[in-house]
Amino acid sequence: MSTTLSNLLHEVRRFEPPAELAAAANVGGAEYDTAARDRLGFWHRQALRLSWTQPWREILDWSNPPFAKWFVGGRLNVAYNCVDRHVAAGHGERVAIHWEGEPGDTRTITYADLLGEVSRAANALTALGVGQGDRVAIYLPMIPEAVVAMLACARIGATHSVVFGGFSAESLRSRVADAGAKLVITADGGYRRGKPSPLKATVDAAVADDTSVEHVVVVRRTGAEVDWTQGRDLWWHEVVDTASPEHEPESFDAEHPLFILYTSGTTGKPKGILHTSGGYLTQAAYTHDAVFDLKPETDVYWCTADIGWVTGHSYLVYGPLANGATQVMYEGTPDTPDRGRWWEVIERYGVTILYTAPTAVRTFMKWGSDIPARHDLSSLRVLGSVGEPINPEAWIWYRENIGGNRTPIVDTWWQTETGAIMISPLPGVTATKPGSAMDPLPGIAVDVVDRNGNPVGNGEGGRLVATEPWPSMARTIWGDDERFVRTYWSDLPGRYLTGDGAKRDQDGDLWLLGRIDDVMLVSGHNISTAEVESALVSHPRVAEAAVVGAADATTGQGIVAFVILRGDAARDESEGAALAGELRAHVATQIGAIAKPRQVIVVPELPKTRSGKIMRRLLRDVAENRPLGDVTTLQDSSVMDQISSGLSAGA
Ligand code: ATP
Ligand code: MG
Repeated sequence: MSTTLSNLLHEVRRFEPPAELAAAANVGGAEYDTAARDRLGFWHRQALRLSWTQPWREILDWSNPPFAKWFVGGRLNVAYNCVDRHVAAGHGERVAIHWEGEPGDTRTITYADLLGEVSRAANALTALGVGQGDRVAIYLPMIPEAVVAMLACARIGATHSVVFGGFSAESLRSRVADAGAKLVITADGGYRRGKPSPLKATVDAAVADDTSVEHVVVVRRTGAEVDWTQGRDLWWHEVVDTASPEHEPESFDAEHPLFILYTSGTTGKPKGILHTSGGYLTQAAYTHDAVFDLKPETDVYWCTADIGWVTGHSYLVYGPLANGATQVMYEGTPDTPDRGRWWEVIERYGVTILYTAPTAVRTFMKWGSDIPARHDLSSLRVLGSVGEPINPEAWIWYRENIGGNRTPIVDTWWQTETGAIMISPLPGVTATKPGSAMDPLPGIAVDVVDRNGNPVGNGEGGRLVATEPWPSMARTIWGDDERFVRTYWSDLPGRYLTGDGAKRDQDGDLWLLGRIDDVMLVSGHNISTAEVESALVSHPRVAEAAVVGAADATTGQGIVAFVILRGDAARDESEGAALAGELRAHVATQIGAIAKPRQVIVVPELPKTRSGKIMRRLLRDVAENRPLGDVTTLQDSSVMDQISSGLSAGA
């Protein structure tokens, strides 16, 4: 049995950075060497981007690994860094957020406005007895109050735990209980796909017999009727709008807990990841500046992630606001009122940088390129991707149809645990390859190793690990140091185990191959899900694919592929069988007979987490006829029934 992953997919296309962008880029290629020569000195300089009330005595204390302390002894206020200092520098009139509600209502919030709102909310929270170290659960739709609530917590030293607004009462209850939250901030509802969703009712169910929650603060968004518990429930507009817009920010230790955030749950029960203040904000701000080449005076940046996901934390709230960016925030779904909504938003606000996920790109591919073609997207200059490996064909589609064949694409690899981007091209430096996240950023050290921890050579795959601590690394799993050590730091001592597979190509560039847990073992070869899926997506009829290894008497595991077709055309039964044969043959010619799926099943949808990631473990349960594992973070549970019936019909 081989200990490394087979290297199957070959990609030869390359895209040089546009000359104009490269000439004016925030970060040049020399930064890699500078940072490699003196990694701590590099991060020291990046921390100087922020305003500190007290300097640090030590850049990194790694005397008790894996529990890192960065910028030891330094003090700062995170909200001051994201808001006040821009106003103090004369940028109070700059728009911080162009907010767009799903029904079409809009709000324009300047940095001066944001300062007033965050200060009022900080005063209101203090008046409710929330103080330093208390936990606050935030369960809100994508409305500006979500950003204000997070920053207000940061401002008073309370630790927030944002829970995605689509989660069930039970998911919310377990997260509120795990964090021991004292306060929940929610709304009467939010708009998704044209309908108001009843958030307050979910909170009522979640905190019904919880003792840690003292108050529930409710933002009025939809005007829907809500049940009210006297003494516990309070309207946001009554407590926040009446509070003083003056608030003196106190400074906190660099290692003060900023937030707890639960992982997506793609591989199992979510973990409450703890991030702290100084190191986290340093890396969020640096990477946002370097990877997106942000020019705060002229760019209009749009990250489409929900605030309930780590991307929403680092690249909608903390990174862009620390950098004084102007950004778009959109409440709803991309198909409301029609499938051109995003492109209309880009056209209206002149968005220059778009950061989204492969799941969205593949959905747009499925809907067809004629939809974005109806809009003027010429303002765009950098496109980003995050959340899953982006299939080379989806990458090319994104560049051609959204980026006008001109914009660099930054495929950014990172995790809730890493806090900020770790591996990504730099738009003014890197000649990109479709589907590759390319290189670790300056100041970041990663490697690809075999199961014994030995680095693999070029052309080989293995486990992705981080070999040196980084400023925005998770400090622990909330309340469970032991699980933190066991999950990430035990298998290969001294190295952080990401749980992802990766390969180095012949040039040494990095390709993410999906979860190590998802790697298939077929006739003695370790085969990654990502490569077989990308081969399937390179067929003109396929928009999206998920493959799993199912127990097989002869080969150990057999590859079972689930595919979604491009376009809306319905398929008839006979065509299904012919197409399955064609796709199996296509995989064989693209990457070799060893990777030919045993079975190809056309499905209408794939099981995804709320953050849009494919949950392969559920497909494996289906393919091996097992009861389904934890489905609480699934976006739409009916998808599994549709797939199970498709499997029995197609088998
Ligand atoms: P859990 O850890 O609970 O299973 P999760 O890993 O899905 O959940 P996140 O922290 O939101 O939760 O996701 C991080 C993971 O997303 C990475 O480990 C990786 O598998 C995937 N990922 C993120 N960005 C990329 C990318 N650019 N390319 C490939 N994979 C990516
Ligand atoms: Mg994970």
